Amino acid sequence: MGSSSRIKDLTSKGDFDMSDLTGFQMVPDYYAENVFSFKAMKNYLSPKAYKSLTETIKKAGKLDPSIADEVADAMKIWAISKGATHFTHWFQPLTGATAEKHDSFIKPDGEGSVVLEFSGEALIQGEPDASSFPSGGLRPTFEARGYTGWDPTSPAFIKEGVKGSTLCIPTYFVGWNGEALDKKTPLLRSMKALSKQIDRLAKVLNIKATIPSYATLGGEQEYFLIDREFYYRRIDIIQTGRTLFGKEPAKHQQMADHYFGAIKTRVIAFMEDLDKEMWRLGAPVTTRHNEVSPGQYEVAPIFENQNLGVDHNMLCMEVMQKVAERHGLACLLHEKPFAGVNGSGKHNNWSVSGPDGKNWLSPGESPHENERFLVMVAAIIKAVDEYADLLRMTIASAGNDHRLGSHEAPPAIVSVYLGEQLTDIFEQIEKGSSTRSSKQGGTLELGVDSLPPLPRHASDRNRTSPFAFTGAKFEFRAVGSGASLSGPNIAINTIVAEAVSSICDELEKVGKDKKTLNKAVQKVLQDIIKKHKKVIFNGDNYTEAWVKEAKKRGLPNLKTTPEALAVMQEARIVKLFEKHRVLSKKELESRYGVYSEIYQTIIKYEADLSVEMARTLIIPVALEYSSNLAETIKSVEGVSKTKSTESRGILKEVSSLTEKAIGAAAKLEKAAVGSSTSKVKSSMADLRKTVDALEGLVPAEIWPLPSYAEMLFIS
Ligand code: ADP
Ligand code: MG
Repeated sequence: MGSSSRIKDLTSKGDFDMSDLTGFQMVPDYYAENVFSFKAMKNYLSPKAYKSLTETIKKAGKLDPSIADEVADAMKIWAISKGATHFTHWFQPLTGATAEKHDSFIKPDGEGSVVLEFSGEALIQGEPDASSFPSGGLRPTFEARGYTGWDPTSPAFIKEGVKGSTLCIPTYFVGWNGEALDKKTPLLRSMKALSKQIDRLAKVLNIKATIPSYATLGGEQEYFLIDREFYYRRIDIIQTGRTLFGKEPAKHQQMADHYFGAIKTRVIAFMEDLDKEMWRLGAPVTTRHNEVSPGQYEVAPIFENQNLGVDHNMLCMEVMQKVAERHGLACLLHEKPFAGVNGSGKHNNWSVSGPDGKNWLSPGESPHENERFLVMVAAIIKAVDEYADLLRMTIASAGNDHRLGSHEAPPAIVSVYLGEQLTDIFEQIEKGSSTRSSKQGGTLELGVDSLPPLPRHASDRNRTSPFAFTGAKFEFRAVGSGASLSGPNIAINTIVAEAVSSICDELEKVGKDKKTLNKAVQKVLQDIIKKHKKVIFNGDNYTEAWVKEAKKRGLPNLKTTPEALAVMQEARIVKLFEKHRVLSKKELESRYGVYSEIYQTIIKYEADLSVEMARTLIIPVALEYSSNLAETIKSVEGVSKTKSTESRGILKEVSSLTEKAIGAAAKLEKAAVGSSTSKVKSSMADLRKTVDALEGLVPAEIWPLPSYAEMLFIS
C-alpha cells in the first residue's frame, strides 16, 4: 500500500516520554494553575481591590482605574512565580488567528541591573505596532495606531515557552476612534445587546432578575491527526492546511468503524496531554472521541460564558498544534483536509443564562418557566428565518465551501430543527385551541399549563440539521473547524436580541395583568409561528429533495463564500447591527473587504501551489516512470520476441495523463491570473483529476507525496 522509504522514517511516537503518563496528579490540584483566577487574585490582591475586580468581572463592567496599578503588580508577581519574563496583550485580529507581541517586565535600575515592572497603564492598554493587520481600510498604515485593551471578563493566563513563560492578557483591539479591528470587540458588544433584551423580556414576563444574564457557549471541535513525517512531506498541508492532491484510498470510512472506536495509543497520549494542558489553563474540556473519518477526532468542553468559550476555543486550537508536535503528530484544523472523507466542523452550542440564573432554553418545571422557554424558542425561530443568510455568511470561508452541502455536513441552507414534540407544541400554539395535543388532555395555555417533558437528546436521530434544538440549547453545526467562534456568536446574539426586542415591543404594550399578558404572549407566538414556520425542517437535510423543498419555501441557499459575504453589504443587515450597536456600517464594510480579500488570496495561493507541485513534484516523477517503463518494455520485448500489448497500454495511459497534467497546469497557471475564483477552482479540479489518476498508476515507491491511506491510517 505504501512506500517503504516513507514508512521507515516515521517517528513512531515522537519525542514523547511515556513516563510522563505515570506521574499521577489529581485534576483539581492543577486545574487552572496557569490562570490568574479568583483564587490567585485573592492571594495576591488586597481585599478591597479583590472585591472591586471580581465585581467588575461578574458584571462585565469597566475596571476601576484606581486599582489598575495594584492589579498589574499582583498579576506580575503571580506571573513571575510561574516563570514569566514577558507579558503580552493577546488579541484576535480579523485574520481569524490570535496575535501576541511580547514585552519583558525588565526595567533598568540605572545601576547596571534591572527591576521587574508592570504598570496598570501597561495592563489596561497596549499599542502594538499593528500596521500589518488587516483593517479593510479602517486604519490606513500612515496612522497605523491600533490599541489593545484588557477585557477583564476573560482572565489572564500563562503561556509556557521552552525555558520561560509569558503572561497573556486577553484584550480587544480597536482603532484610534474606537472602531473594532478584531473579533472580540463586536462579540462583547453583541453579548451586551443580547443581555439588554433578555433583561427587558424578564421584566415583561415578571421574572425576578437577580444576576446579570449572559450567553453560554460550548464549542465542539473536530480535527485530524497525522504523523508529523507525512506532514513535512506534504507542502500542500503545510502551506494551505489541506491536501491539494491525493487519490481516494480503497478503504476509508465506508465501514464506519472509526467513529467512537477504541482510541489508538499515540492518539490517546495526545488527548491526555491536551486535556491536561487545557485544564491547567482553566478550560473545561471534557469529551474526547474518534470521529467519522479515520484519523479524525473531537474534543468538546463543558459550556461556559460565551466570551470565555470563544477564548478557550482559540486557545484550544493553538494548544492542539503544540501538543501534537510533542507527540510526533500534526493537528489539522482545516475544514476539508482530505477530499472524499468527512471534513471537520465545529458545533456551536448556544444558550442564554437568564437574570434568574436559569437556562432559558431549558423547558422548565412550572408553566411560568415554560412560557419563558417557548418565547425564547419562538424568538430564535423568527431570528433564524429572518437572518438565515446572515448566519450562512458567518460560516463562509474558502475551506468551509468544500464542506457545506457535501453529503456529510449541513448544507448551506440554514433551517431549524425542533424535533417532533416541540414542533407539535408550536403547531398547537399556531392553531390556538386545537384538540390535538402532545400533553394529556386539553390544549396548551401559555403560562397556565405545563409542558410535557421534552426528551433531552431528541436530536440524536437527526445529525443533519445546521441549526438544531438539542435539549437545552441550540446547536449551530455548520461552523468550520478552523474558524473563530466569534463570528457565528456575534450574529446569533444580535439576531436573537432583535427578535426578543420586537417581542418585547409587543408585550410591553399590554398591562401587567397575568391573564391579558398570557393571552398576548400566546398571540405573539402564534404570529411568529405562522410567519416563520417555513424555516423549521425536521427531515434529512442532506437530500436533494430538501434542496428543492427549501427553494419552494423561499429559503436562501448561498452556495459559495462570495455570495454569502455579499450579505454584509445589505441595508437591512447594516441596520440590524447599527441598531444594536454591534457593528457600524463602516466596520461592516471593512470586514467585508477583509474577508473577501482573505477568500481571494486563499484561492490564488492554492492555485499557484497546485501548479508548482504538479510541475516540480508530480510531472517529473511521471515522466521518469514513463521513460523507465518504455525502456523496460523495449528490453522485455527484445528478449521475449513478442509485443507486450498490456504493458504498452499502461505506458500509453501514463503518458497521456502526464500530457494532460502538463496542459492542465498551464491552464490553471493562466486562470490564476485574473480569472474568476470559480474558474480558478474548476481549473484546479481538472488538474487534480489527472494527478490523482496518475497516483493510481505510478509506483508508490517513487510517488513523491504520502498517500491518503498512509496519512489517514498510520498514527
Ligand atoms: P451532543 O451534542 O453530542 O449531544 P452534549 O449534549 O453533551 O452533546 O453537548 C454538546 C456541547 O453542548 C457541550 O460542549 C456542552 O457543554 C454544550 N452545552 C450543553 N448545554 C449548554 C448550554 N446551556 N449552553 C451552551 N452550551 C451547552
Ligand atoms: Mg454536537
